[in-house]
Amino acid sequence: MEIKTVKGFKDILGEEATLFEEIENKAKSVAQSFGYQPIILPTVEQSELFDRSIGNTTDIVEKEMFTFEDKGGRILALRPEMTASVARSFIEHHLETSALPLKIYYFGQCFRYENPQKGRYREFYQFGIEAIGDISPVLDVEVIQVAFEILRHLGIKDLKVKLNSIGCRTCRPNYKNLLIEALKIHYDELCNDCKKRLYKNPLRILDCKKESQELKESLPKMVDYLCTDCRTHFEKVKTILTQLGIPFECDPNLVRGLDYYSKTVFEVVSLELGAQNALLGGGRYDYLIEDLGGRSTPGVGFAMGIERLIEVLKKRNYTVNKLPKVYIVYDQQFITFANEIREIISKEYVVELDPKGDNIKKGVERASKRGALLVFIIGENEANNNAITIKNMKSGKQITVKREEMLKSAKELIEDD
Ligand code: AMP
Repeated sequence: MEIKTVKGFKDILGEEATLFEEIENKAKSVAQSFGYQPIILPTVEQSELFDRSIGNTTDIVEKEMFTFEDKGGRILALRPEMTASVARSFIEHHLETSALPLKIYYFGQCFRYENPQKGRYREFYQFGIEAIGDISPVLDVEVIQVAFEILRHLGIKDLKVKLNSIGCRTCRPNYKNLLIEALKIHYDELCNDCKKRLYKNPLRILDCKKESQELKESLPKMVDYLCTDCRTHFEKVKTILTQLGIPFECDPNLVRGLDYYSKTVFEVVSLELGAQNALLGGGRYDYLIEDLGGRSTPGVGFAMGIERLIEVLKKRNYTVNKLPKVYIVYDQQFITFANEIREIISKEYVVELDPKGDNIKKGVERASKRGALLVFIIGENEANNNAITIKNMKSGKQITVKREEMLKSAKELIEDD
């Protein structure tokens, strides 16, 4: 039987892999430019970490975790997201003693046992940032700003923030009760999942795709029941977003699928993406570190799905800026000379050395197949005169120049075209 990739897992090849790296590089460099530093975390954690952070009544923990017992009898899980791991690491390494806010970014794969479909896989990659240790609404906006900046660097312009506040321990319990009372009246209309959620996690009903818009609009809204602290925070976030010219829209039904959020929650959407249109999501998590046993420390961050971003970039025909390719064709006896040339020009070009070194004509044919813009030819004449013949594969124009002149001449040959 042929061995293939496992359901929900996939290889990332060719152009897609190039796009993948482009996103990774751009995201990291934007985050660095805002003062964020890398953190590298393990893929496997104690399963309990996610029960206690994401919440054991969420879909992720209830249905989608890759959980297993190792040979030592430990109950482990492949991480379904990375914020919980960041919080665990923060506590474990006493990072509260470092200069706060701690600003970090991560990149890595996450696992969720979901039904695979376009933009949804069982293994997917997330890039995310976290600002931990400061309650200021400026940081809520900063993480949104970093997200926007990354997407702008990738040429995506039709973006909008969907924003909500889901309150805190002071105001949410009261709202939850009001919501349950309002939902009880509509119990028969609810889908089977929401019937189960009614008492355990009623907020999730607000973003259930199966419930009617009419029903949702008739329900009480968290934003109308925020305590003074949460309301002030939310107003400040909105004011700063407006001041910085970041387009947003308040969505009272946005609650996000993880239990650890408090106050600000947001998603950034692209109008080009269809059903799975959230490119990234995030929010505040002021109780997460405390709930995991650490000292009470607020935090805010976002996570961005790389696969969905690749879909958007493909739709937009995004092209990665690549250096032009030079292909060196040479007579086998001059391989040392050819390699010296490769070393010199590799600072400005992608350079491939012909693997055969047998026949100049055949070598030039291979250069064409491999998409070279220029071919550097080193035959007997060239080697004896410390010279190179450079051919532009597009125009067919060819010149022989001294070795010291080769970089300048190569540039001219490209520009002349
Ligand atoms: P979440 O951790 O659920 O807030 O998701 C953050 C981002 O990760 C989403 O906006 C998606 O872009 C991405 N994401 C979540 N689940 C999947 C999945 N199963 N496959 C691919 N991307 C995903």
